[in-house]
Amino acid sequence: MSDLSTSAIVVARTRDELRAARAELGDGDVAVVMTMGALHEGHATLIRTARRRARHVVVTIFLNPLQFGPHEDLSRYPRTFDADMEICRKAGVDLVFAPTPDVIYQDGDPGVRISAGPLGAVLEGQARPGHFDGMLTVVAKLLHLTRADSAYFGQKDAQQLLLIRRMVRDLDFPVDVVSVPTVREPDGLAMSSRNTYLTPSDREVALCLSQALRAGADAAAEGPSAIRRAARAVLVAEPLALIDYLVLVHPTTLEDVPEWYRGEALLAVAGRVGTTRLIDNLPIKVGPGGGALEVFSDVHAEPPAQD
Ligand code: AMP
Repeated sequence: MSDLSTSAIVVARTRDELRAARAELGDGDVAVVMTMGALHEGHATLIRTARRRARHVVVTIFLNPLQFGPHEDLSRYPRTFDADMEICRKAGVDLVFAPTPDVIYQDGDPGVRISAGPLGAVLEGQARPGHFDGMLTVVAKLLHLTRADSAYFGQKDAQQLLLIRRMVRDLDFPVDVVSVPTVREPDGLAMSSRNTYLTPSDREVALCLSQALRAGADAAAEGPSAIRRAARAVLVAEPLALIDYLVLVHPTTLEDVPEWYRGEALLAVAGRVGTTRLIDNLPIKVGPGGGALEVFSDVHAEPPAQD
């Protein structure tokens, strides 16, 4: 039996190195997990899920400048390459593509980009103008460069996942998009590379985000306004969390669900704790027997009819 912890792992830094290493993997059944590095158990879970389902797994580690605003945390984003490699090795990755920005954007900032459209202008897109265009542009490039047959993304970044699914559908990318449930710390905090910015007291404060989502999910049977009310009550009790938004929206339109709505909805929250902007969400089934879901059952579900 092969021992994954000692299996060889190839690191490609240039396009030529990637092309050569990718050719070695052969055609068909190659999965990609795209990351910005500073890997944690959430990333490892994506990799292991991909590993179980695909013949080969490629991980990309690329801090994409195009998706960071001028006042965001690109320069202080944690860089932990050696530890990242160890996680990749243990999780059974075949190939790591870790390029620098000049490899990805060989002619400088690209003039032609993917537009996220209206779904990229709300929620995170409103707080971070241009973020989703930059994210989709690099995802498209990495899909082309890695020639992956499937790509694994976390439910943690729900709007990102939705937009990637839309891009793949709207622009006919030949790739299967697979979503993986959010991995949490034992106390409920969603794992994130940005959690390393939190001081111990910030971290206590940050718990209100996941607790609010839980409280909302516990009220799922009663309908949208009860869900929003229960979640908001938790956030209001923690004034040190500066909440940007708390929404209960349809999973594919990101529009607020009306009071009569029953079915799957996304309860999402974003806010600042100390110097750190955090996001979290729970897929929820609204209505009788409702509650938290791991991921949406049918991500291509039709939007609700308007009243
Ligand atoms: P990032 O390195 O933050 O760009 O994340 C890379 C991938 O890992 C994205 O698909 C994220 O949604 C996913 N991811 C990050 N944190 C988690 C988590 N706590 N649980 C599941 N997936 C995650």
